[in-house]
Amino acid sequence: MFSKILIANRGEIAVRVIKTCRRMGIKTVVVYSEADADSLAVEMADETVFIGPAPASESYLVADKIIAACNATGAQAVHPGFGFLSENAGFAQRCADEGIVFIGPNPGAIRAMGDKIESKKFAEKAGVSCVPGHIGEIDDTAHAVKISEEIGYPVMIKASAGGGGKGIRVAHSRQDVEEGFPAVRAEAKSSFGDDRIFIEKFITSPRHIEIQVLGDKHGNVVHLFERECSIQRRNQKVIEEAPSPLLDEETRAAMGAQAVALAQAVRYDSAGTVEFVAGQDKSFYFLEMNTRLQVEHPVTELITGLDLVEQMIRSAYGETMAFGQKDLKINGWAIESRIYAEDPYRKFLPSIGRLVRSEPPVEGQHEGYVVRNDAGVREGDEISMFYDPMISKLCSWAPTRLAAIDGMGRALEDFHIEGLGQNIPFLAAVMDQERFRSGKLSTSYIVDEFPNGFDGTTPTPHQVDLLTVAGVAMHRVLTRRAGGSDRPDWMVFVGHDSRAVEVAQSGETLTLTFDDARVLTLSDVVWRPGKALFRGRLDGKAFTVSVAAAAEGFVIRHRAAKAKVLVLSPRSAELHGKLPEKQPADTSKMIISPMPGLVVSMDVEVGQTVREGEVVCVIEAMKMQNIIRAEREGVVKLVSAKGGDSVAADEVLVEFG
Ligand code: ADP
Ligand code: ADP
Ligand code: MG
Repeated sequence: MFSKILIANRGEIAVRVIKTCRRMGIKTVVVYSEADADSLAVEMADETVFIGPAPASESYLVADKIIAACNATGAQAVHPGFGFLSENAGFAQRCADEGIVFIGPNPGAIRAMGDKIESKKFAEKAGVSCVPGHIGEIDDTAHAVKISEEIGYPVMIKASAGGGGKGIRVAHSRQDVEEGFPAVRAEAKSSFGDDRIFIEKFITSPRHIEIQVLGDKHGNVVHLFERECSIQRRNQKVIEEAPSPLLDEETRAAMGAQAVALAQAVRYDSAGTVEFVAGQDKSFYFLEMNTRLQVEHPVTELITGLDLVEQMIRSAYGETMAFGQKDLKINGWAIESRIYAEDPYRKFLPSIGRLVRSEPPVEGQHEGYVVRNDAGVREGDEISMFYDPMISKLCSWAPTRLAAIDGMGRALEDFHIEGLGQNIPFLAAVMDQERFRSGKLSTSYIVDEFPNGFDGTTPTPHQVDLLTVAGVAMHRVLTRRAGGSDRPDWMVFVGHDSRAVEVAQSGETLTLTFDDARVLTLSDVVWRPGKALFRGRLDGKAFTVSVAAAAEGFVIRHRAAKAKVLVLSPRSAELHGKLPEKQPADTSKMIISPMPGLVVSMDVEVGQTVREGEVVCVIEAMKMQNIIRAEREGVVKLVSAKGGDSVAADEVLVEFG
């Protein structure tokens, strides 16, 4: 076996490859750019080689620098990860010429499959069903219109060298083609340096289903079943799963056989993926082959028990595959959520910045599900503009699809990130949708379900219960810290709705009785002031919510639902309730402490005229400072707290005349 491997990549995939190498007793070399000097992969590698400035074109994409790093460190093989040089036949050939093993397929297979037009020609010959269309280059807009009308609208205009969702456009009419063809061509030229374009039929409401294949250098090829990656935005995957809820045994076997036939036709000798679009009627058409490890490979690993990176290394070394097709079985169900630094509240635009806090869920066995989290960044790291804004790939596994979805929902609850926009609430919203749970997927899922973008969800009755119990429990902790009393009767406001509740504590369990006699129990609470995640069990069932201090009360989020939660004594609730909207009590006459805390400063004095919006005082609670402002103009009549005082919730701080 190899004794040293160089990883020509970064981020989570570099970390992923290091983990397998360590397990196999292989030393690792990681190359890194200026932007990655302090990265996790660099920290984990046995050796590192600096290869230049942050832009990939000056570092990770420069074959000479990678080859030189291999020679300098004595690495016998290169794992390219995905992206960068992974599908570059020239680089694979260069490695071979230099006597370095490329951990991926032979250059001939990359060349044949790396290009969409060429690969379709191959696929047709191998008996693979292709999307109806024009398999060949298109010269100009007039030609594009002619071809499109022959195929029939809608059509898809695609860059032959395209990848990662770039260089693709749907056209529904002649006008769309006239606009789209030059646009795709320009994008192809600038992104891939290759402006060859082709056109194929656009399959409406399709599903993206792909087959993982694996080959060795001795002519053996197997498939490791399918993954469904229909949940996409901008033609890019965000949620993937294995197996697919669409397929039956027969279709699975047919797709698997076609994928294997195609792989055999190009003497495929590593891990690769044959992508198909499938109709809801289970018809399927070849899209492209990715001649590399795929981002979503972990879901296949979770249902087959195989380590694909290990298999790639073994076949690159020349080992014969240790198993055949009949030894492979699907075990359970796995889901992957791509956690991206992108803001679902703002059209999924990348949101780069520093990962100020990152608390991922614990990996391994949980109650009924398994968590795997492939991360390339850690707390304090920067998500830069130079590379993919991926934070991690969070996977769940369980014996059934629904249990895996529930496991993913729980894992997303347990993932806390601060400092940049991220898509965790969005991913959680999908896990909770009935359509997703029923497996009725399509590549237009996100557009169908979130036509106006994503703005969180309204708390369900169950979520209102979760927010209520968490709010009450936190309020009690804060009250006690501030020396307040444990009164049993409270009004709990969740958003605009309020409920009266009697709270009793017995041991570590809180019992909440509502005025309609409904009873909830909260146990196993893990939280202390300053902690963003609150864990507990509601009637025995584990949950996690995230919490932030608000000007009054808390803002608590469970999955995609977020609400302001305010716990008040009946007396102040009465005042609060008199106000039609949001703001509590008669603040023109009186300012009461919204929560137990420490007065940082009292900014007004008796006799002073205070204008609307002026700062009255600052109160610190949960390690956050809350600025209390005057609601209306008034003259201060009484000030009953000063900087440094501890105050209880509802305590009167200032009265106006
Ligand atoms: P597809 O090509 O079908 O979109 P994937 O979903 O596996 O397949 O995405 C692979 C793409 O993701 C790569 O082509 C690359 O642009 C991008 N990518 C993701 N992570 C990385 C990374 N760590 N380094 C470089 N490129 C990456
Ligand atoms: P990339 O190399 O960017 O991954 P693909 O050819 O794999 O490009 O297409 C990306 C996505 O676009 C697919 O996953 C699918 O959702 C959609 N798509 C591609 N071709 C078609 C088609 N002919 N009809 C419908 N959807 C398509
Ligand atoms: Mg693709």
